[in-house]
Amino acid sequence: MLKEVYRKRFDRNIQKQFWKALQLALRNPMQTRLFFIKALWQQYQATRTRLFHFKQGLEVPPLLIISLTQRCNLNCAGCYSKVLHQDSGAELTASRFREILGEAGSLGISIILLAGGEPLIRRDLLGVAAEFSGIVFPIFTNGMLLNEEYLAFFKSNPHLIPVISLEGRELETDIRRGDGVHANFEKISQMLKARTIFWGISLTLTAPAHDLLLSPAFLKDHLDKGCRLFFFVEYVPIDPGSKHLVLNQAQKAGLQKRVDELCARLPGLFIAFPGDEDPYGGCLAAGRGFLHINPSGMVEPCPFAPFSDTDLRHSSLRDALKSKLLQKIRAKHHLLKETEGGCALWANREELERDCGSEES
Ligand code: SF4
Repeated sequence: MLKEVYRKRFDRNIQKQFWKALQLALRNPMQTRLFFIKALWQQYQATRTRLFHFKQGLEVPPLLIISLTQRCNLNCAGCYSKVLHQDSGAELTASRFREILGEAGSLGISIILLAGGEPLIRRDLLGVAAEFSGIVFPIFTNGMLLNEEYLAFFKSNPHLIPVISLEGRELETDIRRGDGVHANFEKISQMLKARTIFWGISLTLTAPAHDLLLSPAFLKDHLDKGCRLFFFVEYVPIDPGSKHLVLNQAQKAGLQKRVDELCARLPGLFIAFPGDEDPYGGCLAAGRGFLHINPSGMVEPCPFAPFSDTDLRHSSLRDALKSKLLQKIRAKHHLLKETEGGCALWANREELERDCGSEES
């Protein structure tokens, strides 16, 4: 598929989501409408900036995923971050992080997902992210560190959007994440609603939990709690014995249609990740649509593909976008085509490692 085609389609999809967010905000008098109007305009500006660079031969993805730390206050079963990024060395400093965000903004990168480990452990880096109101930062947190101070911080920085990770109801969540995690979520969701903060949840989509997590009843329950953003993250079998949790062919084939129906029927934003990649000619990793930066600044094609040839402690983001490894992966389309559900690069990791001679980051 031509680059111009999948880039335009992905940009349009992003703008569609921001339009929906604005419509939701307009329906809710308490919501920060001004923020969504500004955010939508900024997304258009950023699309133009990326197109300018594209015409100069530089492929700039709209999204980055940055893991702020490896550290975490939980120990969830099958945590991909603990398995794939055991020790990624010294974490980025606040000053280097500020430079990276500055460069990202100037290149037209307009959405940066902050993850971990537990990102709220790096309060200093979240303070830096608050300085960049032209970028939208969904922050994937387990919610256990969300307190009055953080809630006030998010209230005054609407471009930082807390997204709390769940596995389902209390039973499913506490089995994987530990006792009391769901009860904490119940408490926090009331505090977020009371402060009219725009917030979301991230749900790990496994084959057994598929029907529950996509059921209107389950989702309406969270809409009533004030949640307006829903990420469905397809399960990736990092733990070899967990292949049975991966979405089956029928679930995978029907996922995007289910999500589109939810978007049409319910007053929320529903996003499947990675979702239907066919319209983009395959996975959007390796800079086609997004990139991953690990806690020590290594640039990776995706959080589930810990391979890198570029270290942002010693290289600019612009140079990282031209990395040989990323170009090789983009040129090898079959590496970006997944067959089994979950993650294409993870499914092709042996070939990726062999062919790309990439170092484990
Ligand atoms: S909260 Fe996230 S990073 Fe922490 S152990 Fe659980 S899955 Fe891993």
